[in-house]
Amino acid sequence: MSIIEHIERLFDERGDSQYGFEAVSQLEHALQAAAMGEQEGATPSLVAAALLHDVGHLLHNLPDDATEQGIDDRHEELGQRWLQRHFGLDVTEPVRLHVDAKRYLCATEPAYEASLSEPSIQSMAVQGGVMTPDEVQAFAALRHCEDAMRLRRWDDAAKVVDQKTPSLHHFLQMIADSVPCSAVAVDSETTAEKTK
Ligand code: FE
Repeated sequence: MSIIEHIERLFDERGDSQYGFEAVSQLEHALQAAAMGEQEGATPSLVAAALLHDVGHLLHNLPDDATEQGIDDRHEELGQRWLQRHFGLDVTEPVRLHVDAKRYLCATEPAYEASLSEPSIQSMAVQGGVMTPDEVQAFAALRHCEDAMRLRRWDDAAKVVDQKTPSLHHFLQMIADSVPCSAVAVDSETTAEKTK
């Protein structure tokens, strides 16, 4: 199975799970985030990152509301580890950094935290809280920090009930056509990740 087929299967099988305590599904959330990236003219790699930023949530067996129960599912690292077998840093780094981008923006933009949904604020508590000045400095020095912050803002806004978006197939075709990706087969990877 190709990575594209595997992504399609993951969303088919688990994409209708609830996005935390938000009113949209994982698939709706992913499509809305990717659509915003595409509308802003982001690179195909960053649009792919937007589509796949929460793929880690589809790879573990914790409950949908894990963060609300005080459990950090580390979905950004799970997603990055899974994606890095197939995609380069322009896809995997914004995925890995999208949680830290929230912690960074809360530390550097006074109005940002007030704009977050209640579940986002709650989950930040288990994700390390607002960044310290040292953490802010380290994050700002990362090559993909700007991409991670763009992705974060799409992530925050991608919670609109009944929002029309392009289809999953549209974005998978875009990835297949325009995003460098290895052809390594992916059978049984999901199972391997779940046991870590
Ligand atoms: Fe998200």
